[in-house]
Amino acid sequence: MPAAPNPNRGDMSLDFHVAIIGGGITGINLALGLQARKIPFTIYERAPAFGEIGAGIGFSPNAERAMVAIDPSILASFKAAANPNGEDYFQWVDGHDTESLLYKLYVGKDGFQGGLRSDMIDAWASLVKDPSSTVQFSKTITTIDASSPSSPVTLHFTDGTTATASVVIGCDGIRSRVRQLLLGEDSPSAHPHYTSKFCYRALVPMDRAIETVGHAKATTRFMHNGPNAHVITYPVGNNRLLNVLAVLSDDEEWPDQSKHTAPGSKQEVLDAFASWGPTVRGIVGLMPEKMDKWALFDMLEYPAERYHKGKVCIAGDAAHATGPHLGAGGGMGIEDALVLSELLDGAARGVGSVERALEVYNELRYARTQAVVKATRRACLLFHWQVEEVGSDGAKFGKEITPMFHKVWEYDVEKVVEDALAKLEG
Ligand code: FAD
Repeated sequence: MPAAPNPNRGDMSLDFHVAIIGGGITGINLALGLQARKIPFTIYERAPAFGEIGAGIGFSPNAERAMVAIDPSILASFKAAANPNGEDYFQWVDGHDTESLLYKLYVGKDGFQGGLRSDMIDAWASLVKDPSSTVQFSKTITTIDASSPSSPVTLHFTDGTTATASVVIGCDGIRSRVRQLLLGEDSPSAHPHYTSKFCYRALVPMDRAIETVGHAKATTRFMHNGPNAHVITYPVGNNRLLNVLAVLSDDEEWPDQSKHTAPGSKQEVLDAFASWGPTVRGIVGLMPEKMDKWALFDMLEYPAERYHKGKVCIAGDAAHATGPHLGAGGGMGIEDALVLSELLDGAARGVGSVERALEVYNELRYARTQAVVKATRRACLLFHWQVEEVGSDGAKFGKEITPMFHKVWEYDVEKVVEDALAKLEG
């Protein structure tokens, strides 16, 4: 059952209530946005508790600005959990042949910092007030009945329970059930597809990383590029750990579309990078004996045609799942959370209908997020020296990669909020 309406919002429809499906980066940021605007919500999360995998994540300047605009305490928590940059540069190195620097890009003062995913989620989840009434765990959405425009939406969960809400936002990730319900299970756009890239992820102790690659390389964001693969590293956990992500191109189909991980081993990674230079071989040599192999899926070839229908919409990876290569997917979910918080605030105050709010969200967020999915694919081709006219040429690489990152980072979050509210009112 929805929580009681907030008595402090005299100007809000008494029964306005938002259902958020999924409590990952997007869902929690949306919840915090609604909380800051005093709009009642419930997060329905499939897992028994908030949690994230043991790996790193970095947030770019646009994501930081969106955090502030949602609620300044989100950025403060991120910064408290983020690792200091060794240098405020993203540096690319020829990891295969010469080990020389190909290109470096300024990320801004203390910009694009990384951290442990679990630290970020724990910090943000702790900002959700009164979780016993605003969060329901072990709730897996199966169907949504939104057939009557004049009645609340009814949610059905696998445990047989139901709930109602004024509006439903699916923040349920890359394999979103809400997307399937919105677009039709049989539509290819309801599902993500294999990008022919897979990866291995590990957190290695910093003292061993420093012994292997030296202090400078272990404490700053570096990417080692080469033919058909790259290895990215950055420090996390207050310089206790080095986050390692090794991405490989694949000629095969991913065997099981319903499962994005498969058992992997250190030997596979060592074999894959056997012809690379000593730094990359050293880094992958620090990875654990057993680890998962992660298929990278996205929605480039079959994008969701729209992010909303009636009183139901999708946000974050549920709407526009993308690869990790520009470090932008999580930030896109945070931008979505900002725009939705503002629009739902408007709808709650009766500025426009909920349906119109979701339509405006779609109008303003579609092109931006689709462009990031596309650029992310291109970035990986550049990293793997698969763009013939660029290859391993650092200057040509820099000329192409700089505007790609800048386009992501320079997004005007204040302007999109202004435009959203003007459209809702108009
Ligand atoms: P998720 O994090 O997937 O959360 C979805 C939530 O919904 C989960 O809690 C899940 O349990 C729940 N759920 C799922 N199904 C249901 C259901 N049926 N009912 C109820 N709940 C459900 N992005 C960056 O910005 N920076 C980076 O550095 C970065 N690095 C990356 C590295 C890798 C290797 C990868 C793969 C991605 C990376 N990304 C990065 C992308 C980022 O991880 C995602 O964009 C982000 O996690 C998406 O968040 P989300 O909340 O939309 O989805």
